[in-house]
Amino acid sequence: MKIIVLPGDGIGAETVAVAVDALEHVSKQFKLGLKLEHDIAGHDSLKKYGTTIHEGLMDSVKKADGLILGPMATYDFKDEAKGEINPSKFFRKGLDLFANIRPAKTYAGSGTTYKPLDLVVVRENTEGFYADRNIESGGSEMLITPDVVVSLRRITRQCCERIARSAFELAMTRKKHVTIVHKANVLRIGDGMFIDACHAVAKDFPTVHVDDVIVDAMMAHVVRAPERYDVIVTTNMFGDILSDLTAELAGSLGMAASINAGTQYAMAQAAHGSAPDIAGQNIANPFSQVCSAAMLLTWYGQREGRPEFVQASQALEQAVTQAIAAKESTRDMGGKLGTKETGQALLKRLAA
Ligand code: NAD
Repeated sequence: MKIIVLPGDGIGAETVAVAVDALEHVSKQFKLGLKLEHDIAGHDSLKKYGTTIHEGLMDSVKKADGLILGPMATYDFKDEAKGEINPSKFFRKGLDLFANIRPAKTYAGSGTTYKPLDLVVVRENTEGFYADRNIESGGSEMLITPDVVVSLRRITRQCCERIARSAFELAMTRKKHVTIVHKANVLRIGDGMFIDACHAVAKDFPTVHVDDVIVDAMMAHVVRAPERYDVIVTTNMFGDILSDLTAELAGSLGMAASINAGTQYAMAQAAHGSAPDIAGQNIANPFSQVCSAAMLLTWYGQREGRPEFVQASQALEQAVTQAIAAKESTRDMGGKLGTKETGQALLKRLAA
């Protein structure tokens, strides 16, 4: 399996380095033959090539079997004419990575846990309210007058159905419960279509229990009773917001693993951003990136019928679980270690 590794901005260099070491370790342990090819995107690329995405990068990613993308300083990249392309959008749109899978679960001994939870937010990733990806060319936010802005949201039946299918397939491997999160009381047509499409797909999964919750109420429900939820399917922006909440409820945004998957390609990228407030201080939690990389191995193993990749992914997950229980983690998860030291402790655990 060939993986392109792009460390990204802010804490990316620190967290992706830990994920790379962990991957190299399990590659030897499980004889995966991983080939990690290192390149750059984001600010480093802007400095070197005058663009956040250099020429030829998409081609190498398409020739590989997977991509690891570190967090990007998206907010800094405002003008594509100046080479400031949002790399996350670039790959999500360009590779049609429609399913953003964001698990959140509590760990024993994390110390910051409010209530136990184990759920997955399945977020549509290619349309919705995301002005940078929901139209073929240009952006879908318009300045009508200096004081009037119109932002468009796109919802299509095809995208609703395919994200619903991802959610139901995932639910079949878990507790067989899908919750549709929407705002159909206000966005009657768009979210109405989203709910209809989810129910249409649900007919193919008769053993899965389905319910739905309005997004604002969901923010209360998931705090009050997170144990009620298993797989949550929702549109792009609601999923982005809800998954930061569920990650933090589970202990820390620093545990927020995520994969962006399409039918042909997949990209492992933690759910959080480049965290400039803690970048370069050796305090960022690397487990979000390690667990994202683990999800990429599972995706590949399931797709290629290679159980050793799934086993390697499970070994990574298990080592992270044990590390947190033993407080071999960064401060956000109740430990006292730095990013690098957390990575070193993880390698020892993997080797044990
Ligand atoms: P952020 O997600 O970077 O940080 C929010 C908070 O969580 C901060 O206090 C940060 O220190 C903490 N945090 C994040 N990751 C952590 C980790 N691994 N360990 C410990 N704590 C962690 O959000 P922000 O500060 O609003 O955004 C910073 C930049 O990231 C912006 O440019 C934004 O556009 C971008 N962003 C990118 C992505 C992405 O690349 N997928 C996602 C969200 C935000």
